[in-house]
Amino acid sequence: MQIVINGLTWKVLNANPNSDNLKDSRDVPCFGITSFPRLTIYLRNDQTKALYRQTLIHELVHAYTFSFGVHLYADDNTEESVCDFFGANADKIITHANQIMEKLFRKG
Ligand SMILES: [Zn+2]
Repeated sequence: MQIVINGLTWKVLNANPNSDNLKDSRDVPCFGITSFPRLTIYLRNDQTKALYRQTLIHELVHAYTFSFGVHLYADDNTEESVCDFFGANADKIITHANQIMEKLFRKG
């Protein structure tokens, strides 16, 4: 499928575990890969639903940071740490935000 992030059209595709599209720059197979030159996210198609979702959010953070010109590679691990953090916690953060908005927003 396709999504648009800040005017850039990205493809999101499933990939078989052995696909070259899932290998990083060091040839290590990954659960997901975001290719900036191809504006494409590849997701390994044999993950559990929970892991697939975490991987998807992780890769979306890569796609969002790239699309908005944010570079988090100050050291080798910053961007991966941010993506991992969001992949593992974004649903909980949004759930809390929704709960707080529902309870507090414009209620005094
Ligand atoms: Zn990553």
